[in-house]
Amino acid sequence: MKLTVIGTGYLGATHAVSMAELGHEVIGLDVDQAKIDALASGEVPFHEPGLPELLTKHIGTGKLRFTTSYEEAVPFGDVHFIGVGTPQKAESHAADMRYVDAAVKAIASAADRDCIIVGKSTVPVGSAARLQELAREKAADGVRVTLVWNPEFLREGHAVDDTLTPDRMVLGLETDANGQYTEEALAAEKILREVYASQLAADIPLIITDYQTAELVKVAANSFLATKISFINALSEITETVGGDIRTLADAIGLDERIGRKFLNAGVGFGGGCLPKDIRALRARAAELGVDQSVRFLAEVDDINLRRREHTVQLAVQQLGGSVHGRDIAVLGTAFKPESDDVRDSPALDIAARLHSMGAEVHVYDPKANDNAAKRYPRLDYVDRIEQAVARAEIVLLLTEWKEFRELTPEQLEPFVRERTIVDGRNVLDPEQWINAGWKYMASGRSIKK
Ligand code: NAD
Repeated sequence: MKLTVIGTGYLGATHAVSMAELGHEVIGLDVDQAKIDALASGEVPFHEPGLPELLTKHIGTGKLRFTTSYEEAVPFGDVHFIGVGTPQKAESHAADMRYVDAAVKAIASAADRDCIIVGKSTVPVGSAARLQELAREKAADGVRVTLVWNPEFLREGHAVDDTLTPDRMVLGLETDANGQYTEEALAAEKILREVYASQLAADIPLIITDYQTAELVKVAANSFLATKISFINALSEITETVGGDIRTLADAIGLDERIGRKFLNAGVGFGGGCLPKDIRALRARAAELGVDQSVRFLAEVDDINLRRREHTVQLAVQQLGGSVHGRDIAVLGTAFKPESDDVRDSPALDIAARLHSMGAEVHVYDPKANDNAAKRYPRLDYVDRIEQAVARAEIVLLLTEWKEFRELTPEQLEPFVRERTIVDGRNVLDPEQWINAGWKYMASGRSIKK
C-alpha cells in the first residue's frame, strides 16, 4: 500500500521504516529539512538500535523516501500517519497541539482523493473528534478524509521491535450520536486491517474502540507506569529513613504476579519526552473537563519523581561536606534511559545541570547522548570516555543505566578517582563488591552502612 508518515522524529522515522519493512511504499515527511536530508541519505539523526540497518535497506529497495513537501507526499499516499510532536506547552501543563493541527490541515488541504489520516501522536482526550471535523472542513468538496486514532506504545531503545511486534494495537474510530461506529469509520478500519495485515496474521491483539478510549489508552498506560515508578520511589524515601533495602522490597512485592517486578526500580526517577509531559497533560485535560480530582494523584506522582532528582543533588552536597562549589563531580549518563540519546526532561542531565549551577565542576560521559546534552547545557564538561569523566572525581554519580555502567567495577575507576565515593542512582551495581573494595556506596532506598 502507499503510505506517508508525517513527522519523522523518534516515532515517525521508526514507523516509516517499519511500514517499509512490512512491504508498503512509504514517504516520510518532516518540516525539518536537516532531518529529512539525513534520513534520505540513510542516516538516522538519533540513536535507535536496529533502525539504521532497516533505513538503509529500504532506501535501497526503493520502498522508502523522504520529503518536506506536502504537495509531493499527500497525493502519493492513501493512508497518512501523523507522528508529530505534542510537547508540554511553555506556559502550562497542557499538550501543545499546534503541530498535530498543522499536519491535519496540511494533509486535508492537499488531498486530491479520499484518504485516511491515522493519528499516532499522544493527544488529550477529545482531540480526535475535533481533528476529524477540522479535516472535513479543510478537504475539498467531494474528497472524504477519514480520521482514525492509533496510539503508539513504542519504547525508545526498542522502537523497531515494538513497532513491528507491538503488545497490542488500538484503533479508535469515529462514532455517531448513538455511539455507533460510522460507515466511513468502518471502511477506514478495513483499510487499516490491510496495512497491518501481516501483524494481525501473527496474532497481535487488535482493539477496536471509540476515539476517546483510544486516546485515553495511551495516557492511561503512561500514567500507570509513572505511578509504579513513583510508588517504589516513595517507599525508598521511607527505607532511606528507617533502614531497609528497596531492591529486596521490590523483588518481594514484584513476585506477586498481580504487581509484577517491572517498573519497580527505585532510582533517580523517570524522564524523557513522554511520561512527564503525558501525566501533566492528562491532569490539564481533566481540569478542562471539570474532573481534575480524578487524576489529582498524578500531581503527587510528578512531585515524588522530581524529589528524587533533588535528593541525589543533596546527597552529593552532603558527601562533599556541605558545598559542591569548585568540586570535581563525575556524572555517568545524560540520556533519560539507556539505548537512547534522548535527553528530554532527563533526570541525569537535570541533576548534572543543577550541580553545575551550584558551582561544581561537572565532568559528563554518556555513550550516545553527549551531543544532545551539550545542545541543552553547553557549559558542562563533556568527555568521550568513562576514565576522563572520573579523573580526579571526588564523587561519581551513575545516573543512566547503560550496560557499560552496569558492568563497572571498582578496579576500573580506582586509578582515576580522587575519592572512592559512588552514588548508584539506578540501583544497578552490587553494593558488596564496591564496599569490599573500600568504596563508599550509596543508592536510592538502601541504607547500606559499613
Ligand atoms: P520528535 O520531536 O522526535 O518528532 C516530532 C517531529 O515532528 C519532528 O521531527 C518535527 O520536526 C516534526 N514536525 C513538527 N511539526 C510538523 C509538521 N507540521 N509537519 C511535519 N512534521 C512536523 O517527537 P517523538 O518523540 O517522535 O514524539 C512524537 C509523538 O509521538 C508525541 O506525541 C509523543 O508523545 C508520541 N510518542 C512518542 C514516543 C517516543 O518514545 N518518542 C512513544 C510513543 C508516543
